[in-house]
Formats: sequence, C-alpha cells, structure tokens
Amino acid sequence: MHAVELIERKRNGGEIPADELRELIAAYARDEVPDYQAAALLMAVWFRGLSPTETFALTEAMVASGETIDLAARLGRRVVDKHSTGGVGDKTTIAVGPVVAACGAPFGKMSGRGLGHTGGTLDKLESIPGFRVELSTEELVAQVREIGLAVAGQSADLVPADRKLYALRDVTATIDEVSLIAASIMSKKIAGGASAVVLDVKVGEGAFMRTLEDARRLAEVMRGLGEEAGMDVVCLLTDMNQPLGRAVGNALEVAEARKTLAGGGPGDFRELVVVASTQLLALSDLGLDEEAARRRVTSSLDDGSALAAYERWIRAQGGDPDPGLLPRAPVVLEVLAPRDGHVREVRAREVAAVAMHLGAGRERKEDPVDHAVGVVCRAKRGERVARGEPLAEIHARDDAAAESAAAALLSAYEIGDEPEPRPLILDVIR
Ligand code: URA
Repeated sequence: MHAVELIERKRNGGEIPADELRELIAAYARDEVPDYQAAALLMAVWFRGLSPTETFALTEAMVASGETIDLAARLGRRVVDKHSTGGVGDKTTIAVGPVVAACGAPFGKMSGRGLGHTGGTLDKLESIPGFRVELSTEELVAQVREIGLAVAGQSADLVPADRKLYALRDVTATIDEVSLIAASIMSKKIAGGASAVVLDVKVGEGAFMRTLEDARRLAEVMRGLGEEAGMDVVCLLTDMNQPLGRAVGNALEVAEARKTLAGGGPGDFRELVVVASTQLLALSDLGLDEEAARRRVTSSLDDGSALAAYERWIRAQGGDPDPGLLPRAPVVLEVLAPRDGHVREVRAREVAAVAMHLGAGRERKEDPVDHAVGVVCRAKRGERVARGEPLAEIHARDDAAAESAAAALLSAYEIGDEPEPRPLILDVIR
C-alpha cells in the first residue's frame, strides 16, 4: 500500500480498491501514515467523493481500528441510540436520553465535541459541575444497566480512526462531504453496539448539508451502512436554517434542555425531542406503536419522570443537576429590534459564529471552551417584534465582547413581512 499512489488515484477521480483503503485507514490509526497525507486524501475525497464500495470499506476500516461493544448482548436487550449530523443550538441528546430512559428503553451513547461551527454534546455536558464524560467501556455498560442511560466521550479504544480523522477534518475544511460524515457517524454507531438508531439529518444554512437533496443522499448512505450492519435506522430530516430552540452556548443549552425535561422549553425543541424519542421507543423492545410511544413520551415530559431520569443520569456521572450551579456569564446584553415587523430569518451559521467568538466554541483544536457564554434568541422566525423589544441576549465575559457580538448578532436577524411557515421536521425516512 503506497499512500501517495492512493491519494493520486483519488485526486484523479479513480476508485481506491477496498482492501487498500482499509489498509490505509488502519495504518493512519496506528500513526504509520502522517496527518499531511491523510489531509491530502480527505481533500481529494471532498472533491471526488467515494463510491458506495469505498464508503463501506472506509466505515468497516474505521470500526476495525478499535474495540467494539456489543451493548445489546451485554444488556440482553435492544439498545437504541441517536446521532445528529450537527447543528446550532442542538442539545437534543441531553433531553432525548432521559426521556427514552424514563420510558423504559436503555439508551447508551457516545457523543462528540464541537465540529466546525456546530456545538458538541460533550462540551455542553462539561458545563455541569463535576460531570465526567470519560467512562470506560465497563462503566458505560454498568451505568446503562443500572440507570438505563449513559452518554460518554469516544474512549481511546473505540473507533480511534474516527477520533483522528474527525479532528483533522475540522481543521482542513473537509467536514461537509457525504461519505466522510456517513462513515464517521455510522462507524461509531456500529462499534457502540446499538440495535437501532435515529439519525437527525440537519438541513439548511446552519447544517453541513445545505439542501434537502444532499441531506436525503446522506440519509440514504447512512441507512445503507446501518442495514449492512443489521441495525434498524430511521432518519429525520430537520430544518437547520435557524438555531434549534433559543439557547446557543454550552451551559445555556443545558439549562434549556433541563427546562424542556421539566415540561417547558421552546416549542420547536420540544417537538424534536418528542419526535426523536417517539421513533426511538417505537424501535425499542417495548412493543409500542408510534401512537403509544408518543403518548408515553409526552407524559414523561409532563409528569416529572423525564426530569427525574435526567437528575439520576447527571449524578451517576459525577455531576450536580442543580441548574442554579451552571456557570453564568458576568455580562448579559440585550440586542433590541431596530424596527417593527416579523422575524423572517435568524441565520444559524451567523449566530454560531457569534457564540464561537464569545468563546462558546473552539477556533483551534487546543482552545478551551467558555461554558458560560453564548446567545439566547428571544425572538425566532415568524414571531412579531416591536421596535426596541429584545431580539436576543448576549451572554459575554466582558462589556467589550458583548458590544462587538451585538452588531454581528443583529445582522443574523432579518425583519420584515410575516414569512410563510416552515416546518421543523421535513421528512422521516425509514
Ligand atoms: N457527527 C459526527 O460524528 N461526524 C461527522 O462527520 C459529523 C457529525
């Protein structure tokens, strides 16, 4: 296997034989292929794409690069899992996990850190004082068995090839390619041993897939990879033109997820939590059809059982679930509507950039994250605002950071005539 020849072949639009691609990925995971060659290959793939055979071989090689857990066999039950392709304000796992566990289905999940402009569940969870995201495989299995729910970082032993490629893609502008996203997500789902998975494929300006057509292609590729591995896969195609919910920023998002688990929270976020949890329950071994699953999900949000599951989970991983202990930014600045009208757009990518500059995300791999800062969109698409009313809040470390964020945030908003309604759930692919 000669890395340069394989890179050249892909660069020229050719196909890499499956066994050589598997060898190349295995060698990269063992640190025998340098980052600069892997980066060149990623860029060639970004331009040329991968065939179905290559995508399958890449996924297989990534799974084979580390250990696998047969979570379902270890628990003697069907285990359900979810994954998002990445969005802005996407704190869905933090609410869906407790809902599903409260309804009686085991939920074990490996989450990631921020990628590109999108936030990562692990960074959000680390804003909870004491919360530990690093669980060994044995701890993860024991926790799912005991309390029905665990969310952990990808341990060094699981899909190490994705761990390295994920970080490299983040700094080489090679995130938004269908086969690379599909292999990254599905290798983790396959190695993690879930029996069924709900994939939230984000579509729009704030997502890696900007069009419905590209999102459908990604969904089909992931579904195909899951089916090959004997996994049931349901894909939700969901709007990501504006942030999900109102909060963007780590502790702010945890607070919003908790509020939703207590029966409140923003309508769009609750809707996604209900739809994703319903699909997960319908895929579980509880024998529920969609209607019964939905009823069980909504009662868990309204009767306090989902919130109780959240509190058990946070304590099990060393955290304190008291929302009063979440870090708070010292400066909160309101951004006011410059005129009367309806909010026509809240451009998700621009809001993400504001949150990132405030310190909520990483500009470089090694940057620390400021858990307290971020943005709360007080007005969202379709809502009416009067001049001088708050459109959004900026949570910042100091006045200067807040002032410069305010101007940028204002330009993420478009105010004018009332827009046509736009659904959150665009399609469900089974
Ligand atoms: N989430 C992942 O785990 N991988 C990607 O490539 C994108 C989103």
